[in-house]
Amino acid sequence: MRICKQCNSEMINGFDIKIDGAGYGIKITKNSTIFSEKIEKPKVAICPKCGEVSLYIEKLEKILSK
Ligand SMILES: [Zn+2]
Repeated sequence: MRICKQCNSEMINGFDIKIDGAGYGIKITKNSTIFSEKIEKPKVAICPKCGEVSLYIEKLEKILSK
């Protein structure tokens, strides 16, 4: 469970990021080159009270064990 850092409400997890017109989404990488290793697509949590949007990575332990 994620708590909104603005109003301390419980956030709704699991939204996907989509970018209109591009269709490739956002990738998180370890370095900035185009050939860099893909890590994970970030997920989005949204606060239903104030609309705060928060990005997070779901499989963090997989990334950190690399
Ligand atoms: Zn909030």
